[in-house]
Amino acid sequence: MALDRKSPNDLNAFWMPFTANRQFKKNPRMFVGAKDMHYTTSDGRQVLDGTAGLWCCNAGHCRPKITESIQKQAAELDYAPAFQMGHPIAFELANRILDIAPDEMAHVFYTNSGSESVETALKLAIAYHRARGDGARTRLIGRERGYHGVNFGGISVGGIVTNRKVFGPLVPGVDHLPHTHLPEENRWSKGCPEHGAHLADDLERIIALHGAETIAAVIVEPVAGSTGVLLPPKGYLQKLRDITKKHGILLIFDEVITGFGRTGAAFAAEKYGVVPDMMTTAKGLTNGVIPMGAVLATAEVHDAFMNGPEHMIELFHGYTYSGNPIAAAAGIATIETYREEGLFERAAELAPYWEEALHSLKGVRNVIDIRNEGLIGAVELEPIAGEPTKRAFSAFLKAYDKGILIRTTGDIIAMSPPLIISKEQIDELVGTLKEVLEEVE
Ligand code: PLP
Repeated sequence: MALDRKSPNDLNAFWMPFTANRQFKKNPRMFVGAKDMHYTTSDGRQVLDGTAGLWCCNAGHCRPKITESIQKQAAELDYAPAFQMGHPIAFELANRILDIAPDEMAHVFYTNSGSESVETALKLAIAYHRARGDGARTRLIGRERGYHGVNFGGISVGGIVTNRKVFGPLVPGVDHLPHTHLPEENRWSKGCPEHGAHLADDLERIIALHGAETIAAVIVEPVAGSTGVLLPPKGYLQKLRDITKKHGILLIFDEVITGFGRTGAAFAAEKYGVVPDMMTTAKGLTNGVIPMGAVLATAEVHDAFMNGPEHMIELFHGYTYSGNPIAAAAGIATIETYREEGLFERAAELAPYWEEALHSLKGVRNVIDIRNEGLIGAVELEPIAGEPTKRAFSAFLKAYDKGILIRTTGDIIAMSPPLIISKEQIDELVGTLKEVLEEVE
């Protein structure tokens, strides 16, 4: 039976991810089109994208170069086996990624999502030590309030309680650093806060507790996004780097949202001048258009595996769609779009304007903190007593009605617009959010 895509259909079959399903299905919010900075809703309205989809459409929507490259690739080579066979596009993309990554990154392992990139990096860390004859190093250290996707490794090192607590005992041998959110000291900071570098010293405590010889890796988001935009205190990431290096522990930066220009540099590693041993990426890699992720690793990590007879598989890990040709074509076109349009530089140039616009919300009803970096912003609201998350969710719904897309986590509104946003659109986004906050309970 032919279905008119834009007519209401039965919403029951689709169990939606990270969604209040019952609420949504009573009042569906449907996007049916997108172009550049805007979505089109099923009732024909334009909605300004304040979140780059889910932090992924960094070049804006339906960009011709990316669309055409996907169309062309689908007609030319739709799929090639990922194991024991190759195709040129995947190799080309790996080089393009390394072109914009820190010099120390030397190899790319493909996945299909941020969650898979995280699982891959955690497995690589443990296997790396084992390959070097240091097989007791299996312990993984994450951080409170960290988000590393939804698979078992990721939720184990992650620190968002709701994402962990109903899923059983999780991966054993995991410990957590304290989060870096110090509102009493750092409220209303612009960019990275002054206070909190000392929180990295807690790693020494964890190392003393378990013994460095049992610890494989530390994983952190340089900027924790999903948990409400928690910025690294000045000097914090360098301290983590120094301590991990001193103890032979790998450092993994989860750059799934900070990668591809979001902070005003290609990667947060570049922005903060701290280079980890591995970086996990996804989202902006293909502008969100086709699922793809990538783990970047140093030569030291990679080379530890390159032993044994040459006909033997060195790493028993990979996905059917690792380096999928269509995703790889999208990745190449995306990186070209970023470069041709200077979008990372654009994000850096717009950052001060974005910062001032966001901080103009100080003093608006219920706003208790504002945080920003690059084209990332968060507006934290005072929760309604006894009803956490309700105020922010109401703001999200009202914002959608008024034509802007924002995202909420707890009572924090997070924004991360496409890097093509104009100053006028920043004004529109922040101005509409102000109206919303003045109107919600
Ligand atoms: N890691 C970080 C830092 C993320 O922000 C996300 C998603 O938001 C993920 C991992 C998971 O990515 P995905 O949803 O593609 O699995």
